[in-house]
Amino acid sequence: MIRTLFTSISLLFAFILFSPDISAQSQQDRPKLIVGVVVDQMRWDYLYRYQDRYTEGGFKRMLRQGFTCENMHIPYSPTATGPGHACAYTGSVPAVHGIVGNQWYDRNSKKRINCVEDSTVQLVGVESGALRSPRNLLVTTIGDELKLSNNMRSKVVGVSFKDRGAILPAGHLSDGSYWYDGSSGRFITSTYFMDELPQWVKDFNNRKLPDQYLTQTWEPLYPIETYTQSTEDDKPYEGRMIGKETATFPYDYSSQEGKYGVLSSSIYGNTLTFEMAKAAIEGENLGKGDFTDMLAVSFSATDGLGHTVGPNAIEIEDMYLRLDKEFEEFFRHLDSLYGENGYLFFITADHGVSQSPGYLLENGLPAGVFTSDYVEEINTLGKEKYGIDKTVLSVDNYEIYLNWDEIYAPGKDISKDELLDDIIHIVLQHDGVVDAWINKDLANAPWPEITKKMFINGYNAQRGGDISIIFRPGWKGGSEQGATHGLWYPFDSHLPLVWMGWNVPHGYTNRRVEMTDIAPTIAAMLKIQMPSGSIGHPILEITDKN
Ligand code: ZN
Ligand code: ZN
Repeated sequence: MIRTLFTSISLLFAFILFSPDISAQSQQDRPKLIVGVVVDQMRWDYLYRYQDRYTEGGFKRMLRQGFTCENMHIPYSPTATGPGHACAYTGSVPAVHGIVGNQWYDRNSKKRINCVEDSTVQLVGVESGALRSPRNLLVTTIGDELKLSNNMRSKVVGVSFKDRGAILPAGHLSDGSYWYDGSSGRFITSTYFMDELPQWVKDFNNRKLPDQYLTQTWEPLYPIETYTQSTEDDKPYEGRMIGKETATFPYDYSSQEGKYGVLSSSIYGNTLTFEMAKAAIEGENLGKGDFTDMLAVSFSATDGLGHTVGPNAIEIEDMYLRLDKEFEEFFRHLDSLYGENGYLFFITADHGVSQSPGYLLENGLPAGVFTSDYVEEINTLGKEKYGIDKTVLSVDNYEIYLNWDEIYAPGKDISKDELLDDIIHIVLQHDGVVDAWINKDLANAPWPEITKKMFINGYNAQRGGDISIIFRPGWKGGSEQGATHGLWYPFDSHLPLVWMGWNVPHGYTNRRVEMTDIAPTIAAMLKIQMPSGSIGHPILEITDKN
């Protein structure tokens, strides 16, 4: 009893002494490195679906040692790569961070622009190509805040196959964001970040790994009949790759010599990204200084392949089995450099993916293919009823951009309300459409609160369109082949979020957590300010574990 009382008093004393360890935080209480990973188009169920053949050291290790948020959702719609990468690292949504899609119609320049487009910069590492920087991102990232917290002494680096996958996560103050150039097979950057590639990037490019990959043949890791989680190899709704007439193994990449772009949907795209991530750690001495550094890595080939063949193909299963093995090796590498608890790791995705419409239809499930006929119908109506030459300027991210220059032109005297009603009437008659709504009136839409919130969060008044179209789940533009993502549905918005390493307790929650919670959680763990547009909350199961 006395002993218990003594223990209680000691504990109370310890609590009083140490409970606001907030005030006593020293540099040693911080991780050496934060490694953030986005796997492009990784559905939540991939953590489990192929688990029978995952290694102990990859995805299973994350779940065994780390903390998994099993019910993590994107809190906005549409769902695409640019917005997803921005959200994970800013804790914010398109309404605020401004990345409303991979591209959008820019009313100032009167053309469609890419989310990381910047005509004021030059490329570094290659002669020509698309000019890129983070300037369209309107808020700070967690990496920016990390650097702001200590007078720029942390280093932040971004690596991805896709430009936006490297640029948006590492943010404005990035010490180097590097992406793959499909025409040269090199990792490049832009003058926004530096005027010349660091020696380690030049050395990496000189290894010419893509040339080696383009001598290889991709065979499945195991006998093909053992891939029972997937449909048989040859299905009509799988898209074709590298000039093959069938969507079947083997894929002989030696037929693609010099065509570096094809790696964007191959297993080698992931391998190359792991190699580049390791080179960045070494080349930049990440995690070896006095302050926490950050490496943001994004794997893009999962998206390239997923779009082509859909989520039920053996190709996808095999890619994830290989990715898992590569994570095992990557963790071994990180363990050897920093110790298991010396780095903070998290993994998520930028969006998920639907089933292929062809697969759904084959199994009697709701699905279909929509067309863009409505654009022509709207333009015809605009001309005949209102005298507008071209009513629709663009359709991006399932949003219609209207030609306000003409509609508002002096002397036209067009009733906007009537025009918008007419357009919605046309769209609603279109196959596969669930609803269409004027963006400025989204708050009045008679939808479930959760859906309404996602559309409001996804709408940016300056960069968004005028009308949002919501298609049915399982419907896709173009054809029944392959698969895509983009709307609010759980297959697009329900994603993995697993944490591991420094100060991460072991466990899981099925409480709804949102992607906007990632950056505030890191901020809370590190006792730094959350990013400037953050609307999320720290995940208390992780931050309050002590
Ligand atoms: Zn993506
Ligand atoms: Zn995609």
